[in-house]
Amino acid sequence: MSRFANVIVDISHEKVDRPFQYKVPPGLAAKVVVGSRVEISFGRGSQLRTGYVIELTDEAEFPEARMKEIEGVIDGGQEPEQKMIALAAWMKEQYGSTMIQALKTVLPARRKVALKEKKEIGRLLSEEEIKAARAECERKHQTAKARLLAELEKEEILPWELVTKKLNISSQTVKSLEAAGMIRLTTISCYRNPVKMTVGQEEGKRLSAGQRSVVETVLADFDAGSRRPYLIHGITGSGKTEVYLSLIEGIIERGRQAIVLIPEIALTYQTVLRFYKRFGDRVSVMNSSLSAGEKQDQCERARKGEIDVIIGPRSALFVPFAKLGMIVIDEEHENSYKSETMPKYHTRETALKLAQLSDAVVVMGSATPSLEAYSRAQSGEFGLFKLGERLTGGELPQVYVEDLRRELKEGNRSIFSRRLQEKIEDRLNRKEQTMLFLNRRGYAGFVSCRSCGYVCKCPHCEVSLSEHKNGRLICHYCGYEQPAVKLCPQCGSRYILGFRAGTEAIEEQLLKMYPQARVLRMDADTTRTKDSYEKILASFSNQEADILVGTQMIVKGHDFPEVTLVGILAADLSLAVNDYRAGERTFQLLTQAAGRAGRGQKAGEVVIQTYQPEHYSIRYAAAQDYEGFYEEEMTYRRLLSYPPTAHILAVQISAEKEEDAVFAAREAAQAANPHETGLTVIGPAPAQIGRINDIYRYGVYIKAKDYQKLVAVKDRIEKLRAGQDRPKGTCQFDFDPMNAY
Ligand code: ADP
Ligand code: ZN
Ligand code: ZN
Repeated sequence: MSRFANVIVDISHEKVDRPFQYKVPPGLAAKVVVGSRVEISFGRGSQLRTGYVIELTDEAEFPEARMKEIEGVIDGGQEPEQKMIALAAWMKEQYGSTMIQALKTVLPARRKVALKEKKEIGRLLSEEEIKAARAECERKHQTAKARLLAELEKEEILPWELVTKKLNISSQTVKSLEAAGMIRLTTISCYRNPVKMTVGQEEGKRLSAGQRSVVETVLADFDAGSRRPYLIHGITGSGKTEVYLSLIEGIIERGRQAIVLIPEIALTYQTVLRFYKRFGDRVSVMNSSLSAGEKQDQCERARKGEIDVIIGPRSALFVPFAKLGMIVIDEEHENSYKSETMPKYHTRETALKLAQLSDAVVVMGSATPSLEAYSRAQSGEFGLFKLGERLTGGELPQVYVEDLRRELKEGNRSIFSRRLQEKIEDRLNRKEQTMLFLNRRGYAGFVSCRSCGYVCKCPHCEVSLSEHKNGRLICHYCGYEQPAVKLCPQCGSRYILGFRAGTEAIEEQLLKMYPQARVLRMDADTTRTKDSYEKILASFSNQEADILVGTQMIVKGHDFPEVTLVGILAADLSLAVNDYRAGERTFQLLTQAAGRAGRGQKAGEVVIQTYQPEHYSIRYAAAQDYEGFYEEEMTYRRLLSYPPTAHILAVQISAEKEEDAVFAAREAAQAANPHETGLTVIGPAPAQIGRINDIYRYGVYIKAKDYQKLVAVKDRIEKLRAGQDRPKGTCQFDFDPMNAY
């Protein structure tokens, strides 16, 4: 039993202030746990304050004689805050961060933001009277007044913004009509609601047999008290979202609430609309584009039970529901579910933990589940459902794999294979739409042979080497280095180069080849604002363009029924990325891109261009064979002890002086002392980008079958680093990293 408790006094503070230490009186020891609400005296006043225990320890931070005792423990069931603090403590332990960093992640920053005021204009006259008044204004050429009155003929109440912005009516005009007793102006204070929709509600669709069996099983298990997580493996369009909607309906009927996690990029108007149609004002969204006030209000509405469903990217997980019953994770395989800032948590794992703390169930869905999730479904830890058919009728598309080596050999130097050119022309003639997809992930300098497809790889790690500015090729996993290659080691060709063709270059090419084509481009440059992203999609959806060229962004979200051709320009780009997930990512991207073709009534075709048609990721994606891919990829992971068959801890060191970074990296490597069995230490080695802004970066990778062993290593490193007189520098932990450091 721990003798001291670290307590934060005011969690509604923006910065989650530092913890204060209190003694745990023996009489309360059994009741004080992480997350407990306690009564303490704080500062000078004699009044007791409420605090939250965030940590228990036996080490006193200052002389015990001066330390106050906890006065009491406040019972009060499962407060959302208590759960969140327990969750933060778990995240700190599992992912390595400070408690304050973890708390800032799970507790919404609560600033003092006033409630929003909503102004409305309502009419005080009957429809006839308004009509007459408008006629009068028109005669007097008071056009602004006439405009407003015309609008009030249609609607009895108008929001202030509509009147002043869209109708462009000045506040003087409004005031004078108010003075004339025709309208009234009301101000109500309310929570900001980011979901502005006014559509009617809709019943759910009649579920297919497959969908029904998922919904019935999950809800029956829920009622029977089982909280086993589920994975739904279903191609895009197989009706997963419809299943989530019905599941959530069931959960709400049971008096519980639901969180729906989706990748930020999929949080489109269409998605929210579908939920809104089913749940009306009981649904809200949470995402990074909301203002602080809007975020705070959504948390407040959730806490008060005013909403039942929240939709958003990974941060929506921390919206504090009192009776959380279900967490849905759509597109479960997405990389954006891993946080890239401390604590570098994975949303799937964190959701599973939160569900456990909340007595809730987790339901995941994907067309291309991560190996992590699928292997757990295979082992029976997750229940597995398959949804196999498209419910909108469309057939799966015909897929062609075009070998770019052959194109070059036969004299075609264009970035488009002959088959793709022919099909693009055909679509232009038939007035059907085409999507061209360039996966730019591998942009960072991998080197491959244009004649035979050979990719320069590290002899020790099975990952591709990166070309550095000085021309040398470097492995970022082990530090292996070699000079640049002039001739292909496999076939002797001189065409061994880094691949550099952006979406812009492709757009130019298209316009040169097909001057009549209307081309839209979507990439990081053309979508700096959220609006522009939606605009491009809407414009393509309205058939204002024939061809949409883009990066991975275009493979998500919208349905385009008129798209009958999808071209994947260089499928290898994502294969060449220097990490072990490259094959999985490529398979996912190709499968999802291919899934864009033929979503409507017309059949679709897909052309995959590649230098490595024999690569298993490409073969299985072309055959739309997830299981085949899974088996082969797992064999590779098992062989090299990569996740999910083992775990990796990346220790990421940075320091101003190189010797400090090297020292810290060596120390970390030693902390993973090899005389402990079951640990493999790789490195230290310079990071992928060895120096940024004159800060040196070094990494150590530690592999183990048992995750908890890595947690123990992390704890040892933290302890070492807490010592006195340390060299300067920082150290971050990344468990099962998504990206090379
Ligand atoms: P996913 O989330 O797997 O991509 P959706 O739930 O979005 O699939 O469904 C794809 C399309 O099929 C949508 O247009 C949806 O309205 C329709 N759909 C889903 N379930 C049914 C059903 N039971 N009956 C008819 N149409 C359905
Ligand atoms: Zn290597
Ligand atoms: Zn070659």
